[in-house]
Amino acid sequence: MREQALGELAAVVGDRHVIVDALEPFAHDATFMDGELIAAVLPGTTSEVSDVMRVCHRLEIPVVARGAGTSLVGGSVPLGGGIVLSLERMDGIEIDTGSVCAIAGAGAITSRIQEQAGVQGLMYPPDPASAQMSSIGGNVACNSGGPSCLKYGVTADYGAQVEDAPKSATETTGSGLAK
Ligand SMILES: Cc1cc2nc3c(=O)[nH]c(=O)nc-3n(C[C@H](O)[C@H](O)[C@H](O)COP(=O)(O)OP(=O)(O)OC[C@H]3O[C@@H](n4cnc5c(N)ncnc54)[C@H](O)[C@@H]3O)c2cc1C
Repeated sequence: MREQALGELAAVVGDRHVIVDALEPFAHDATFMDGELIAAVLPGTTSEVSDVMRVCHRLEIPVVARGAGTSLVGGSVPLGGGIVLSLERMDGIEIDTGSVCAIAGAGAITSRIQEQAGVQGLMYPPDPASAQMSSIGGNVACNSGGPSCLKYGVTADYGAQVEDAPKSATETTGSGLAK
């Protein structure tokens, strides 16, 4: 089963994006919890995420999504074995000044979104203290925020559209318009 899973996952994301050794960095978050995994899988596109989920769903392999691993509650620790789905390669950022929206990959680092918005004279306010390390995908999952939330709100107040892949397909929620 393990070899079949690794083979199928490599067919989706490419051999070099299925990590089976040096797994230590993927077994922890910012807590002291330890997890166990058979592989870290690093997709590069949303459709690859969907295909990885399809394989894991069919083979009944647990999946833990991981942004930057700064969770303080064990959220990105793979306690049930299986794979860690690391979104770190999906870090693209595009600022659409027309709709006043950032189109960002799940693995985009929060502070980079803030910086690139600033270059366009715009502002992305959610400011968790981990912003220099955390990913926007992790921020969305945790609805993160920092001191600016008192005036501007938290991540959930700024998500206009989310593309996700629950277990076998890609779904889009919301629209790309600033609210
Ligand atoms: C020094 C430090 C300071 C912090 N300060 C704050 C703060 O001020 N405010 C605050 O709210 N939090 C704070 N945190 C907690 C943490 O940084 C945030 O919760 C952050 O949003 C996690 O982002 P991440 O990319 O590291 O996510 P991870 O730790 O990788 O994942 C967190 C959770 O989100 C899920 N997840 C991650 N990416 C995705 C995805 N693409 N799709 C679906 N699920 C996903 C994971 O499975 C996990 O359950 C801090 C942490 C540290 C270490």
